[in-house]
Amino acid sequence: MRLLIGLAVGFLTLWGVDGYNGKSILLTLPSPSGIIVTPEQNISVLAHPNNRNLGIAFLPVDYYAPIGESNVTWISPGKTLPISLTVHNASYPTETLSVDPEKVTPPPEAEERIARERAEAKAIYGHFTPVRYWDKPFIRPLDSNITSEYGSARTYNGTLKSYHGGVDLRARVPIPIQASNDGIIVLVQDRYYSGGTIIIDHGEGLYTCYFHLSRFDVNVGDYVHRGDTIALTGDSGRITGPHLHFGIMVHGIQADPLDLLAQIEQLFETSKESL
Ligand SMILES: [Zn+2]
Repeated sequence: MRLLIGLAVGFLTLWGVDGYNGKSILLTLPSPSGIIVTPEQNISVLAHPNNRNLGIAFLPVDYYAPIGESNVTWISPGKTLPISLTVHNASYPTETLSVDPEKVTPPPEAEERIARERAEAKAIYGHFTPVRYWDKPFIRPLDSNITSEYGSARTYNGTLKSYHGGVDLRARVPIPIQASNDGIIVLVQDRYYSGGTIIIDHGEGLYTCYFHLSRFDVNVGDYVHRGDTIALTGDSGRITGPHLHFGIMVHGIQADPLDLLAQIEQLFETSKESL
């Protein structure tokens, strides 16, 4: 956890924060008010789930964020605190995959569908729901081994296409997957690349995504609780074999999901007395 301490001294101290490209930063602030202004967007400061005197802010760091320093500012009523953000290179590995050629260079007739699906997803992730649906840590949707971590640069059939925007969990047979936390189902759809897809809105700019599903057990608009079965794993979409792809979006940016889950869990482990 990155906790801003020594605030009694005043708001004039320059505060330094280190991060890595792709690994969003969960800031803890000495009051639950104001906004964080970054070069890209203004981020709301939110209530700390475990201490009413503190605030938190999810500071997205894009996979392609420039390495080096940038300045962000916390502005709360009557006060302004500059924060020096240093982004380090996470040095992700490269992966080589062989998939159906049509999923690497899509046929012309698929392009409209792909563009539409991309626009739909962007609209969902860009929407800030001013409610927090969860009050417990997020869980992994499947108790299984990781077969591919977030961030690998991916070469499909010899062509560098993208980076891995989530984590893959092994699932050799269709098995039930669980909602990572409470939220509202905002998308249930068969998509070109991600196959059977579910997106959950957890409120305040956080979304979890579940790809390559073979069966849906929820509908758009359903309220789900952490641990509810929402679907079965499968092998639909651009895929080399059955698995669950699990992703998390933070204010419209794909973050390393397991890294962020661990940071959120730490908020709940913070002793109220020690703060
Ligand atoms: Zn994946």
